[in-house]
Amino acid sequence: MATGHSHQTDVVIVGAGPAGLFAVFECGMVRLNCHVVDVLDDAGGQCTALYPEKPIYDIPGFPRIEAAELVVRLKAQAAPFRPVYHLGEQVQALEALSGGFWQVTTSKGTVLQARAVIVAAGVGAFGPNRPPLPGIEAYEGKSVFYYVTQRETFRGKRVVIAGGGDTAVDWALSLSEVASRVSVIHRRDKFRAVPESEARLKALAKAGKIDLVVPYQLQALEGKDGSPTGASRWSATRSRSSHRPPPPASPASLRSAMS
Ligand SMILES: Cc1cc2nc3c(=O)[nH]c(=O)nc-3n(C[C@H](O)[C@H](O)[C@H](O)COP(=O)(O)OP(=O)(O)OC[C@H]3O[C@@H](n4cnc5c(N)ncnc54)[C@H](O)[C@@H]3O)c2cc1C
Repeated sequence: MATGHSHQTDVVIVGAGPAGLFAVFECGMVRLNCHVVDVLDDAGGQCTALYPEKPIYDIPGFPRIEAAELVVRLKAQAAPFRPVYHLGEQVQALEALSGGFWQVTTSKGTVLQARAVIVAAGVGAFGPNRPPLPGIEAYEGKSVFYYVTQRETFRGKRVVIAGGGDTAVDWALSLSEVASRVSVIHRRDKFRAVPESEARLKALAKAGKIDLVVPYQLQALEGKDGSPTGASRWSATRSRSSHRPPPPASPASLRSAMS
């Protein structure tokens, strides 16, 4: 890893996520040297930062691989080409120079000049997509989580997952193996996950291992000081977007992840 100073190289890659790491390999195969810049302290992009322990099922050649393991393998695949990593540095400027060169400047003052720049910045900076629930900030990092880095955190716990996309469904499947109970709240009765995962979710629900709370959406979170040991409680109301019959009189209530 290198910080500061000026460097000349063949290619600068912005982003050390899966795309950036594999770009190092592809460049190496045509004998181009790379410097890789990432604002995060570790390589791996979303895989490392957001879901290192989540199993991934759609990588060719791997029926199942955890995200962190995929990153280890991508780094190993890139390593023979000796990429220089500039981690913990954000690319802040990109400038065309004369003679067909580009200049990249980072937040730590590193200046990189190269013939080509590959932007593999993915979704850019990550941030939570907060549901509009009053006071939710007090629970964040204690009993409300926007991503799972360690599945073991939830062993033996009652977990409520809000959402109906691939991430929600994948985590429901995975956490059902360790949590004492998993409930999935989704505002529609159709999920936006790949059909195979949705089918597995529904099979677990039918077997009584997962509760599907559909079509409902989060309404409130009650608890004390965001305490993970306190009796915090989610309540959910039947979603208006549903084509089902009118809502019931009382909302559904679910005890949260850390109760
Ligand atoms: C919870 C979750 C589960 C997922 N599950 C799956 C799955 O099962 N299967 C699947 O195929 N996909 C899955 N995905 C999607 C997958 O993670 C992304 O498609 C993949 O990470 C994209 O890789 P990338 O390298 O293009 O971008 P990213 O992983 O987003 O990496 C981009 C990198 O660029 C860096 N960066 C951005 N801007 C700058 C800058 N200006 N300076 C320096 N660095 C910068 C970021 O810090 C980041 O590290 C999932 C995503 C999430 C969030």
